[in-house]
Amino acid sequence: MQPNPAIAIVGSGPAGCYLAQTLRRSMPDAEITMFDRLASPFGLVRYGVAPDHQGTKSIQAQFARLFERDNVRFAGNVEVGSKLSLDALRDTHHVVVLATGLARDRALRVPGESLSGVYGAGQFTRTMNTHPHENPTLPLLGDTVAIIGGGNVSLDVVRLLIKSPADFDGSDVNDPAVEAYAESPVREIDLICRSSADAAPFDPSMLAELGRIPGVQFASEGQTLSGANTSSATQSALEGLRSSEPDGPPRVRVRIHFNSTTTRIAGKDRVEGVEIRLPDGSLHVIEARSVITAVGFDFDPSDPLLGEMGANSDTGLLAEGLYRTGWAKRGSRGTIPENRQCAKAVAAEILKYLAATQSSAPKAGYSGLPDATLRHVIDFEGWLRVDAAERAAAPPNRSRKKFADHSWMVATAHENIDGQTTSAAQRRHVKEQS
Ligand SMILES: Cc1cc2nc3c(=O)[nH]c(=O)nc-3n(C[C@H](O)[C@H](O)[C@H](O)COP(=O)(O)OP(=O)(O)OC[C@H]3O[C@@H](n4cnc5c(N)ncnc54)[C@H](O)[C@@H]3O)c2cc1C
Repeated sequence: MQPNPAIAIVGSGPAGCYLAQTLRRSMPDAEITMFDRLASPFGLVRYGVAPDHQGTKSIQAQFARLFERDNVRFAGNVEVGSKLSLDALRDTHHVVVLATGLARDRALRVPGESLSGVYGAGQFTRTMNTHPHENPTLPLLGDTVAIIGGGNVSLDVVRLLIKSPADFDGSDVNDPAVEAYAESPVREIDLICRSSADAAPFDPSMLAELGRIPGVQFASEGQTLSGANTSSATQSALEGLRSSEPDGPPRVRVRIHFNSTTTRIAGKDRVEGVEIRLPDGSLHVIEARSVITAVGFDFDPSDPLLGEMGANSDTGLLAEGLYRTGWAKRGSRGTIPENRQCAKAVAAEILKYLAATQSSAPKAGYSGLPDATLRHVIDFEGWLRVDAAERAAAPPNRSRKKFADHSWMVATAHENIDGQTTSAAQRRHVKEQS
């Protein structure tokens, strides 16, 4: 094996972090750099996982140890494929791994999908998580919204829509978005799941959590909530929803439609309803002013790195010394921990490859990248400055106030508020050049 192979991981979400963990254990002396186009590490843990699920987000502390203790370098603010070419990365590194995830909401592929008023769950959850490349506030959804999809992300969307601002205590939710939404919240939600209650891919505990939000009435069209033929955990979660009747008139009603396939989004210029096929084969139109689709995520054909490649369960090998892992490899399936197994398998392939190419020439690694790239890098210290500023800006009932503006995050990371750029990455870079 190369004495100190240079390894570049593109993407600092769970897939990239688990891979770096595994590789570091096997190769204590390898130079490992994790690039991200954003100013912050951790991918969807920061920008996908719902802002009111801080327990899940706390895995960031475990991933941070990679940079604090395990000598893995974070290089934020570097978009590979635009700001830095993949070729430049491969020329300077023995191994490059794409752990870039999947950000594009999967299409439903039904008529009416392009009507105004149809939104993706990725778009929605990025706004609620203050993603710097997303709209800062939610669109006007109207009184009635249909959510299509039976997984945990669709339950995230339901939960975030039925909560009042006070229900977000302790979260790092995008407050301007929540406050604007609270002025005209949704009154009726129809959740449309293709599968039956017992086969729906959501976690029963996520369903049960909905029942703990005050002021919400739940119902199930076509079958009573308690009458569904379901597994015991799902059954008791559904029972819980049934018994969570609000004291007074409900603020919002949620109807769950199991065994219902979306056949069309109805409307002329904008959404007016969703047509579903019921288990008996009949068609039924549910009135809705907006639709949020939560049917998974897909490859973006315009992505210069993976484009229309599609998911694959093979070794992750794309070309010599080039691999992919995580959602960029398997498609949008699996929770955070599931990326660990994937990373282990890809790491084993990388170790085999490096062992077989012992005599390959040394490569410059990170310091061989173009100056124009290195000058803009946000290192882990820079990220910690952003992190500290966000925590300091949090109101008492929030865990942090995320910055919405990428340039502001970059300036904060680089301590460039007064026009003086003094990030540690830049100081090191200047020193190395002199
Ligand atoms: C809305 C939502 C909620 C979720 N909630 C949960 C949950 O509660 N619990 C759970 O266990 N799982 C949850 N998941 C699933 C979990 O987030 C994924 O399993 C996991 O994030 C996939 O990891 P990844 O590293 O492959 O992708 P990501 O987390 O998406 O990371 C990809 C990273 O690559 C970066 N990147 C992309 N392109 C480039 C480029 N060209 N150059 C440089 N960097 C780039 C991105 O900025 C990002 O940081 C959720 C997913 C979603 C979408």
